[in-house]
Amino acid sequence: MTRALFLDRDGTVIEDRGYMHDPDLVQLLPGAAGVLRGLEREGWALVMVSNQSGVGRGLITPAEMEAVHSRFLNVMRGAGVGITASYFCVHRPDEACHCRKPSTFHVEQAAREFGLDLGKSWMIGDRRSDVLCGRNAGCRTIWLSNPLFPVVEGLADYVAANWGEVRTILASHADADAAASA
Ligand SMILES: [Mg+2]
Ligand SMILES: [Zn+2]
Repeated sequence: MTRALFLDRDGTVIEDRGYMHDPDLVQLLPGAAGVLRGLEREGWALVMVSNQSGVGRGLITPAEMEAVHSRFLNVMRGAGVGITASYFCVHRPDEACHCRKPSTFHVEQAAREFGLDLGKSWMIGDRRSDVLCGRNAGCRTIWLSNPLFPVVEGLADYVAANWGEVRTILASHADADAAASA
């Protein structure tokens, strides 16, 4: 079974510019593409799971959301990174839908669709709801910190300040896993 990195998008792989309505707002965070390219080559599936409540709130249209995401995928492709699949919750928090993170709905859907081993997978995100989603799904978690959302201590397995630290965390785990199975 394949191992996956479940990725939040806004604030994790690209700059969080609020409710993203314009493709020109898509700006990769430093190091994200290079690190993800290397990880993909090591066999990780890259699965995007994003809450886009701006749609449900009527602040962005579904077409705007699509345009932003298609720019995102193009930018990633241009950097040599293939995103395996992308899943969106477009509901408002008060709609009590079944798919908004921290719900594991989309993570579990991806696991079924792509044969992913959740116990060997990781969730990387910049919010509490990302980390809780990963934990609830039985994944390891990395909280990629930024000034927007204060880190809740003790919630994630690891806290990283940037993508270089994400790479170091995953590499040290790969060594530990290899040693454990040797
Ligand atoms: Mg985010
Ligand atoms: Zn939803």
